[in-house]
Amino acid sequence: MPGFEFFGDEERKEVNEVLETGILMRYGFDAARKGRWKAKELEQEINKTFGSKYAQLVSSGTAALTTALSALGVGYGDEVIMPAFTFVASFEAVLSVGAVPVLVDIDRTLTLNPSAVKAAITPKTKCIMPVHMCGSMADLDALKAICAEHKLLLLEDACQSIGGTYKGQALGTIGDAGTFSFDFVKTITCAEGGVVMTNSEDIYIKCDGFTDHGHDHLGVDRGADLHPFLGYNFRISELHAAVGLAQIKKLDNFLAIQKKNYGILKDILSTIPGISFREVPDPTGDSCSFISWFLPTEAQTKVAVAELKTQGILAGNFYWFDNNWHYIRKWNHLKQATALNRLNDAQTASLLKLDTQDFSASDAIMNCCISTAISLSWTEEQVKDKGEKMAAAIKSVI
Ligand SMILES: *Cc1c(COP(=O)(O)O)cnc(C)c1O
Repeated sequence: MPGFEFFGDEERKEVNEVLETGILMRYGFDAARKGRWKAKELEQEINKTFGSKYAQLVSSGTAALTTALSALGVGYGDEVIMPAFTFVASFEAVLSVGAVPVLVDIDRTLTLNPSAVKAAITPKTKCIMPVHMCGSMADLDALKAICAEHKLLLLEDACQSIGGTYKGQALGTIGDAGTFSFDFVKTITCAEGGVVMTNSEDIYIKCDGFTDHGHDHLGVDRGADLHPFLGYNFRISELHAAVGLAQIKKLDNFLAIQKKNYGILKDILSTIPGISFREVPDPTGDSCSFISWFLPTEAQTKVAVAELKTQGILAGNFYWFDNNWHYIRKWNHLKQATALNRLNDAQTASLLKLDTQDFSASDAIMNCCISTAISLSWTEEQVKDKGEKMAAAIKSVI
């Protein structure tokens, strides 16, 4: 991660093809666009690359989650079980459709703990939303079994794990629906963008209409389209799709580089006494956009982070426990239900309860965890140098 490190002539060429016609919108203007349909082409490329039957591009990963939830029929009165370690977008999307995000503990996979999921199920639960954080995956077999037993939907937030797989299937294509983000720091970028993938024609048709004001897209005259249901505007532009089209063709290369750099770093970090690594339910499917590791205690981890900072080599290392964006501990706006407009009563009540909910099991994992982002642009020498400096700094203080 991230794809912006490899922005080049290929992206410029795709964007210029759109600029030459001036048709920046993905729908309509058939004659003027001279056969250039970047969004459509990227959707086909996504299906080919990840093995999904259908793909709906949207304006962001957050819009992808909102669209997927709506297409799955999740709304007011429904509960969605999701992990306490994620990006704020996951609960934003759930709140935006009127549903209640139910946050539960993670385990050493850094994703949903299946027992915590089971314990959180109520008659209102409609959907389980694993978030495949930092390039690797949740225990999908366990979660699928829970969904089957309780008749729940499975929505994968795979925004951070583009190119990862689980038992041979691409992450994001295994649940009823799945999403990627193509924001600027993701494995492949459109600048801003996202996608919903699904194997269900019904869910796809709903996504297609929902992201374009409910248009049915059945005729050739946009003005004459019918609106079988309400929608919004979550469209991607042709310019953004053009960037993504160049990027997706580089994905195999990105993944190969990530795997190689991950392997080198892992070997070096393994020499640190007491270190352990994140559990990966299917190690061959790790996209390797990050390497996540644990020191034995919170105190040692804090000292290690401080030393990396002192030595000026903290960059690219994330101590999520103290981070404002990714972990429940510092989401005060969420825990105090601070919104600009009125949330529904079920949402407010459940958010306020988060403040006193016991997340000690997640704390005990997150307070010992550091994730190192794997850069695409490192030379082999630079990876080794980075790993050796990190290992020496940490060994000197723990
Ligand atoms: C990036 C991200 C999103 C949202 O994507 P945007 O395109 O930035 O809206 C959602 N979930 C996770 C886990 C993410 O990392």
